[in-house]
Amino acid sequence: MKIARNVKEALLWKKVNDEGTVQCRLCRRYCIIKPSKYGACGVRKNVGGVLYTMVYGLLTAVNLDPIEKKPLTHFMPGASALSISTVGCNFFCQFCQNWEISQSRLEEGLYGSYHEPEEIVRLAKYYEADAISYTYNEPTIFYEYMMDVARLAKREGIANTIVTNGYMSDEAIQEMDGLLDAATVDFKGGGNKDFYRKYMGVPNPDEIFSTLQAYKEKKVFIEITNLVVPKIGDFEEDVKKLAKWIVENLGPETPFHLLRFHPDYKLTWIPATPVSTLEKLANIARNEGLKHVYIGNVWGHPLESTYCPKCGRVVIKRTGFYIYEYNLDEQGRCIYCGYKLNVVPRRKMRWAQSSSS
Ligand code: SF4
Repeated sequence: MKIARNVKEALLWKKVNDEGTVQCRLCRRYCIIKPSKYGACGVRKNVGGVLYTMVYGLLTAVNLDPIEKKPLTHFMPGASALSISTVGCNFFCQFCQNWEISQSRLEEGLYGSYHEPEEIVRLAKYYEADAISYTYNEPTIFYEYMMDVARLAKREGIANTIVTNGYMSDEAIQEMDGLLDAATVDFKGGGNKDFYRKYMGVPNPDEIFSTLQAYKEKKVFIEITNLVVPKIGDFEEDVKKLAKWIVENLGPETPFHLLRFHPDYKLTWIPATPVSTLEKLANIARNEGLKHVYIGNVWGHPLESTYCPKCGRVVIKRTGFYIYEYNLDEQGRCIYCGYKLNVVPRRKMRWAQSSSS
C-alpha cells in the first residue's frame, strides 16, 4: 500500500490495550484514540493500532514575517522569521483569528501543499531569515515536521521559535531540547478557567504553567501574551494573578503582551477591546512588578516600544511590527545608562543605532 507523503508514523504515543487503542503523548490532552479515530486536534489518526500524523509537511502558509509579529520583542529584535503552519489545533477557540486553518479539520478537512523540510530551510537561507517560526496554528500538532525542520535549521545557524498555546507535553518539550530557541506562549482571557472551558474547549489552563516551567528549565527564551476579550475575558484579578505568577516564576524582565481582541469566527458579537481597558490592565501588570509590558494590536501605541527599566528612555522604538530606533549595544545594554536588558540581540543587526529618543 502506498502511503501519502504527508502521512507519517507519529512520535510520542503508546499502545493502551490489545484492541488497538493508543494514547497520544504530544500535548496535555493525552487523547485516548480508538482504531480509525482521530485525536482532538483532528490531524492524528489511529490506523490499525498505530498513530499517524496526517499533516507532515502539508503547509497552509509559508510567509516571511518580522519577528515582532509573533510577537517576540526581546528575542532578536528586527529579525525576520520564515513562518509556517498546517491545519488543525488542539484548542477550539471561538474567537480564533486563524480559524480557517486551525479549525478546518472540522469544517473543510485536511489540506495544504507539501514541502520537504529541506525546502523550508533552503527558503529560509535564500531569504536570509534569522529564524523559522512555527506559528498560525498550534505547532505541537505538527510536531514531527517541526522537529525535522528545526534540526536542519539548527545546522544552518537559523533559530527556531514557536507561537504556542502552552499545551505541549513535558515529553515533547524534552525531545525538543536544544532545538527550540524562543517561545511565545499565548494566554487568552487572563487564563480564567471558566473562559477556557466555555470559549476554548480547554479543560484546565493551569497545565500551561507546567509547560512554562518546562521551557524555562530548557532555557527557551519566553515571551507571554494575553488576549483581552471585553466583558468575558478582561478581569483585573486574572491579569493580576497571571502577572504575579510570571514575576515569581519566570522573572520580572519577562516580556508580557496584552493583546487587543478583534471580533472573529464565532465571537463576532463582541466588539474590539477598548484601548483604555488594555492600558488599565497594563498598569496592573506593571504594579505586580513586570518591567516590560506591551500593548499589541493597537498600531502606534506608546506601549509597542521598549523602555529601559533603569533610566526610562526608549531603547527600541516601534510602530506596529517595525523598528524605528534601536538604542541597545551588542550585548543588549541601554546606550544611555548601561542597564542590561533581557534582550537577545539579532546576530546581524540591521538597524542603525540612534541616540535620539
Ligand atoms: S496532539 Fe492531538 S491527538 Fe495528541 S494529545 Fe494533543 S489533541 Fe490529542
